[in-house]
Amino acid sequence: MPSGTRSANSSSLLDDADQAVEKPSQHEKSNGESRGKLWMAAGLALIAFAALAFVAWTSISSWRNSPEVAARTMPVVDVETGQAFTDFRAPRGATFPFVNPKTGKATLFPAEACYWTKDGKAKFPPTYVILNDRLGKPGPTKCPDCGRNVRLFNPMPPDALMQQAWDAAQSTNKR
Ligand SMILES: [Zn+2]
Repeated sequence: MPSGTRSANSSSLLDDADQAVEKPSQHEKSNGESRGKLWMAAGLALIAFAALAFVAWTSISSWRNSPEVAARTMPVVDVETGQAFTDFRAPRGATFPFVNPKTGKATLFPAEACYWTKDGKAKFPPTYVILNDRLGKPGPTKCPDCGRNVRLFNPMPPDALMQQAWDAAQSTNKR
């Protein structure tokens, strides 16, 4: 029925008009309220940001302490220059010789630490020695400093000797 639909249309138009008139007054009423909401949103954003930063920080620190990274971190010695890098982090999936970032040459080999001195005491820091095995050379590896045999997972001197060496190293640092 045309008349019925017309009246329905007009009533809905009236409703719209009423709402259009009401809207600004509602807005004014809720002005303080919306400012509060704004602060709440800012607070929530801050909390969200803090949570994100925390997650990022924990994931970075767990990545740093991960066994995978620890396995790639080792002392290495440059076979050409003799320079030692005590905490070298090998690139993921790389095999030695690693590239020396200073020279750009693949001359870095994993090294074993020898804490012995010639006269049977301990020293700190140790001498880093590349095993013959790693260089493809035959025979046992001799430490160039103390002349002892060096092997994989080279054993350290007894704790008492290490303590003395550590104390001595600390006092020379202080001097
Ligand atoms: Zn040695």
